[in-house]
Formats: sequence, structure tokens, C-alpha cells
Amino acid sequence: MSIYQRDPRAGAFLGGERTSGQEIRDQNVVAAQSIANVVKSSLGPLGLDKMLVDNFGEVTISNDGATILSMIEVQSPSARIFVDLAQKQDKEVGDGTTSVVIIAAELLRRANDLVKSKIHPTTVITGYRLACREACKFMVDQISVKVDTLGKDALINAAKTSMASKIIGSDDDLFAPMAVDAMLAVKTINNRGEIKYPVKAVNILKAHGKSARESIFVKGYALNCTVASQAMKTRIVNAKIACLDINLQKTRMHLGVQVLIDDPDQLEEIRKRESEITLERIHKILAAGANVVLTTKGIDDLCLKEFVEAGAMAVRRCKKEDLRRIAKATGATLVSSLANLEGEETFEASYLGMAEEVVQERIADDELILVKGTKVVSSSSIILRGANDYMLDEMERALHDTLSIIKRTLESGAVVPGGGAVETALSIYLENFATTLGSREQLAIAEFANALLIIPKILTVNAAKDSTELVAKLRFYHSAAQNAPTGDPKKVLLHYGLDLLNGEVRNNVKAGVLEPTMSKIRSLKSAFEAAVSLLRIDDAIRCIPEPK
Ligand code: ADP
Repeated sequence: MSIYQRDPRAGAFLGGERTSGQEIRDQNVVAAQSIANVVKSSLGPLGLDKMLVDNFGEVTISNDGATILSMIEVQSPSARIFVDLAQKQDKEVGDGTTSVVIIAAELLRRANDLVKSKIHPTTVITGYRLACREACKFMVDQISVKVDTLGKDALINAAKTSMASKIIGSDDDLFAPMAVDAMLAVKTINNRGEIKYPVKAVNILKAHGKSARESIFVKGYALNCTVASQAMKTRIVNAKIACLDINLQKTRMHLGVQVLIDDPDQLEEIRKRESEITLERIHKILAAGANVVLTTKGIDDLCLKEFVEAGAMAVRRCKKEDLRRIAKATGATLVSSLANLEGEETFEASYLGMAEEVVQERIADDELILVKGTKVVSSSSIILRGANDYMLDEMERALHDTLSIIKRTLESGAVVPGGGAVETALSIYLENFATTLGSREQLAIAEFANALLIIPKILTVNAAKDSTELVAKLRFYHSAAQNAPTGDPKKVLLHYGLDLLNGEVRNNVKAGVLEPTMSKIRSLKSAFEAAVSLLRIDDAIRCIPEPK
């Protein structure tokens, strides 16, 4: 419907398209469903990949919900909310992006059905909120298992579950322990005494050629560069590192600057001064105590002599992102100009970062600079090998998700069984919980419970197994577990989830299909919030320009 009317108070022209009530709710459901349908077939260890081609013909092959959705062009504003949801989940948790979109779309669809049967959206929202809160509580109290009781294997298993559906899943025996070692190596205690595992402290380098199984883990931050001159030292102990975003080449006057001289000697003078300026800078940096100089830009051969004579190491053309991370890890300041507020050029010792050792090493045919024993945050690196860019990019994305999952597991210290176990347990619990309420919210809670079953359903469908039978079996086990009194051996059935390869149901804690509790809670909450934010909308007004 188009509306054009004059606002009688302001005299302004209100023009636009307006959609309200059930019509907009239906539109939102369609938009959400279409987004969920895009990623649906990639859920789970047997999910399939998507190939995305952008405007320039650049190809991306991915299984990660956030990556897929970030690459498709979405026009509907409601669908955008779902795309943002996946992105938010990726940023905050690092994994579970596909599940969150699927659950949110299902919650919304069911909520809309309730509204159609004359239940007010506010009642549905209250019911959903209650269900979400109860579900999180139940997950923490009843299903979650402490990592300490499971040991380091729990971390490796959580890593394996996260990479199960990804390109590196077939080599999980290599990559899962590697990712766990990389995260354990970056353990840091912050000022408040909290133990942190920053994902960014793990540097992922990509190298073409060889097979994925030849990827390796190295302690320390690896830089894909070499020292700037062969005459330079290749190992510095007790390194004081200067991270620069400055060109250490002969300073040249800016283009367009005109200097009028009447004596050829003056020209020579200018040339000399141009070299001197850079040399002075280098002297200042060395005088501050730097014995390792890393710069994003170039270093003149003339200047290299200074470093060699001072017994320092200099590395040119480093990536800015690498230097930023090295600066963070070593406590250095990334310096982009030596000039202070008065315009004088200085370099202070406090700009330097510390590391136990900086060394150039040959690792699997490549010369790399390793910054070991970084002072502020420990670092580690994984050098990925792969046949081509597509593979390496997807491997990097998958590894990043896995590292995030290990971080969550380490920081929260608790895991839950995967493979639909949590969703089924919560669904049974909420169904029972709903019947304890005598109000209208009961219906919304029951729908919330049913919506969660979408995950085991899709997992089985993607694995080409009998969905109806397996989900019924799961529900039967979980119902038996929840009806059993505390201490009953049947309680262990709470950990039962899908065995997708054999089309069976098994104890997924024992089988090692684990996911961090924290990430499951976050996904559930984010899915609830996204569904509710769309459900609240009962009017959409699209402004169109005022006709001339
Ligand atoms: P997301 O982007 O949501 O993490 P994935 O494609 O990684 O999606 O699939 C995650 C789902 O697959 C989770 O529900 C998880 O429990 C399940 N899953 C992962 N590995 C297994 C496995 N070995 N057996 C059964 N289910 C698994």
C-alpha cells in the first residue's frame, strides 16, 4: 500500500510504503526462513559446502554460516537482522553460526503461528523469555560437565566437534591437538588476575604447496619475513623490539616542492641531508636500546650498515597487522611517526617491546622470523599448508572457529554433549515445564521446546538418516533420563545425542562430541533475541523520496 499525505502540523510531506500487522509478520517469517534455508544444508559434520562467487568472479567455498551469509546480497531489512545475528555470533563466540540462524528462524515461525491463532505477540515474547531463561539454567545445572573431570581430552574433543563439519575435519587428529597446544601456549593473566586465552595471540600463517597434513605449530609469533641483510645477526637474545610504521629509506622531498638554488654545491648538500635524516632516525632508535627493528615499510641498503654495525636485527616489509599483534604481545608501541608534539623527532625506550628471543629459523623449507617468549602476552603460530588459496582461506576460517571454541571451553571450564543432545534435553524439559504453568505463556513455551528440535532434525537429514525415528529415540531417552530420580543410573541418558555416521544414538560425552556450555548458552540467547526483535515489529514504513 502506498501512502502520500501532508502532515497537517508540520506541513511536511509524508510519503512511503506501509506494511502492517499480520502482513509484515508474514514477510519477516519468509525472510528469516529464506536465510535459514541458505545455510541449513551446511549444518553438522555431514553438511555440505557452498560455493559463492562475488561480482569480480572471486570464488569462496565455505561451510561456515557467517561467511556464507556475509557474502550473499540481502535486501530485506528483516533478513539483514539474521545476517547480522550470524556475524555477531561469529564475533562473540566464533562458532555455532549456522545453528543460531536456524533456531532463530524456527522460533520466529512458530511465534507467528501462535499470533495467527490469536495469542498476542507480547504473551509469546514473555513465554519465550521464560523458556530461554529456564533452558539456560537447566543446561548449566543438569547437562553441563566440568572440563577438569574430563581432562585435556575434553579440549581436544571440543576442538574436533567444532571442526567436524569443516575442511580440516578429516584431519582432526592433527589439527585438534595443534589448536589446543596453540591456545594453551597463549595463556595470559591480565591485570585483574583473570586467566585469558586471546585468540588473536595465535598467528595463522598460510603457505602454498604441500598437503594440509604438513601444517605445523610453532611456539612464538612467526613472521613470514627474513632479516633485511645477510650480514645481520639472525638470533638476538633478550630482544628489545621497535615496531615501526615508518619508512627508513632516504627521505625525499614531497612531490611538487620547488627549491631554487644558485650553487651546485647546495644541491649536493640537499642530497646529503636527505640521507642524514633517515640515519639520524635510525641512531635515535638504536640509542633507545632497540636491538630488533621491525618495520612495515622499506629500509635502504645504505642504512642497513648501521644495524649490522650495531649488532641489531632489522626486518622490512612486515605486515601492519602482524606488527600490531607483536606490539601487543611484547608491550611495544607501534610508532608511525617519530615527531612529538613540538615537531622534534625522538624515540623513547618505553616504545620498545620485550621478548626472550628473536630468531630467524628454517621451518619446513621456509625462512621465518620467530618472536619467542613475548613479555606481555605469550604467542604461538600455526603454519597452514594447502594446495591453493581457497583451501587455505577456508582452513584458516575453520581453525579460527576452533580456536574460539577452545578459548570458550578453557575460560568457562564446562562442556555439553553435542549432536542434538542439548536441544533434545531442553525440549523435553521445557515441554514438562510448560505444563506446570496455568497461563497463556504455556503455549509459547511449548512452541519454544518444539523449535529446538529443529537442530537434531536437520543434523539427521543432512546425514541422510531417518530423522523421525532418530529424533523420537532421542526424545525417548531424554524423557527417561529426566523422569528418573537423582542418582539413578538412567540420568546418564541426558548425555545421549546423535551418532550421525551410524544413524544411531549414543553417549556423546563418552564419544567425545563436546561443545562449550558458554557457546550454547550464547547461541540460545542470541537466537531468542533475534526472533523477538522481529516479532515485535507490527508496522514497517518505507520512506520513498518526495515526488518533484
Ligand atoms: P555451526 O556453524 O552452527 O557450528 P556446524 O556445521 O559446525 O554448525 O555444526 C554444528 C552441529 O553439529 C552442532 O549441533 C554439533 O553438536 C553437531 N556435531 C558436530 N560434530 C558432531 C558429531 N561428530 N556427531 C554428531 N553431531 C555433531
